Amino acid sequence: MHSARFRCPGCRGETLRVIAALELGPDDDNDEQQIQALTCDSCGFVGAGVYQESRRGAGEGVHHWGIALPPSTYIGLAAALAACTHPDSPACDCGAHRRFGARGDDGRRRPLALLEVDGPSFSLVLRR
Ligand SMILES: [Zn+2]
Ligand SMILES: [Zn+2]
Repeated sequence: MHSARFRCPGCRGETLRVIAALELGPDDDNDEQQIQALTCDSCGFVGAGVYQESRRGAGEGVHHWGIALPPSTYIGLAAALAACTHPDSPACDCGAHRRFGARGDDGRRRPLALLEVDGPSFSLVLRR
């Protein structure tokens, strides 16, 4: 997953990479969920990504989307993800896992709820 390249919303190049990700585990809507730090090798775009996969009936499918972050917010996100020692384990109880994996009253996780975002969300499209 980390070697994949996505289309960058900044420069439209296929140069956007996931540089870090935390596996957050299932919630009421999804069987798998990750928060990701995104960076473009070409134009310097930075953002957060959310990968959600559901294998249940009508809601089945993959949603992978991102949103631009102000640089200072991105640095905080990347540092938080890098500080986790078990990024692939939803059972990890570190500060980043607790923060980004927190559930709302409806039982759904809101990985980006606490981040200051900068612009509309965009779909992450894999390079063909
Ligand atoms: Zn770019
Ligand atoms: Zn952790």
